Amino acid sequence: MMQLGLIGYPLSQSLSPKLHEAALASLAIHGEYLLYPVAPEEIVRLAELVKHMRDREINGLNVTIPYKQAIIPLLDELTSSAQAIGAVNTLYLNNDKLIGHNTDAPGFLADQARFIRNSGIEKKALVLGAGGAARAVVYALLKDGWKVSLAVRRADLNQARTLIEAFDQPTGSNSMDFVLLEAGDLERLGSGIQLIVNATPIGMFPEADFSPWPNGLPFPKEAAIYDLVYNPRQTRLVREAQNAGLRATTGLGMLVEQAALSFACWTGRDVPREVLYAAVEA
Ligand code: NAP
Repeated sequence: MMQLGLIGYPLSQSLSPKLHEAALASLAIHGEYLLYPVAPEEIVRLAELVKHMRDREINGLNVTIPYKQAIIPLLDELTSSAQAIGAVNTLYLNNDKLIGHNTDAPGFLADQARFIRNSGIEKKALVLGAGGAARAVVYALLKDGWKVSLAVRRADLNQARTLIEAFDQPTGSNSMDFVLLEAGDLERLGSGIQLIVNATPIGMFPEADFSPWPNGLPFPKEAAIYDLVYNPRQTRLVREAQNAGLRATTGLGMLVEQAALSFACWTGRDVPREVLYAAVEA
């Protein structure tokens, strides 16, 4: 019986059990996907769960907030993407080695490729936020040849600088810069932005009345909007962008893709995406 699960805290809103149990059922794999909530004061339990994996009592784990970085010292190796992003969302065993991987980055790339019509000219993206999800998105976009501007709220801008130091400076590609997430700075960025990605939690349930985009500021004319938030299914940012005539989507597709990629790490099987969409839309 295949034992899968998710470590994080809190986990009550997680859609992962629905996704992975639908995947198991659709491929007739006998198994279950359990939630392992680990409160911050119980952090020693991370080592116990990791041991269950080494002992093959658990066959695969996802890791979410707040442990995507904290789990790393307990692992044997990181894949190159997890190493570069500095965060892990998937654990699997390979020849007795416990590997940490990150499927958020390829999950985002797969879904945005479905969504964006590539015009073939220079690709310029604006990423709102510079936290964990932004790191995965920026890594994926740079790998795919995009120039990336970050828009962040913090006056000290350290988060943005750290991200640029991690990704842009080592390659010397000079593909990144940052501005403040404010109307004046965003306006000065000018046209030519083809993709805006919201990687902040603004607009997420229960604060669904908010949008990260400054009130009254027109969206760049050619931009498509990708909101990583997927709860609610239509965010205020997506609604306002669509009302302005732009293509816009929430991040459910990225959630589905990252789950499918984790599932493939554990089982070697590719799950039909319709199965996963049906599971979360039910
Ligand atoms: P995180 O590490 O906490 O980072 C959040 C970022 O947003 C930080 O840069 C933070 O800046 C900024 N931010 C927060 N509140 C803000 C505000 N009011 N105004 C401006 N900036 C603000 O969180 P995360 O893990 O990156 O997740 C971000 C969002 O992405 C969440 O909603 C999460 O659910 C979603 N997500 C979706 C998927 C998917 O599969 N679709 C995958 C991963 C994440 P400060 O440091 O200044 O607070």
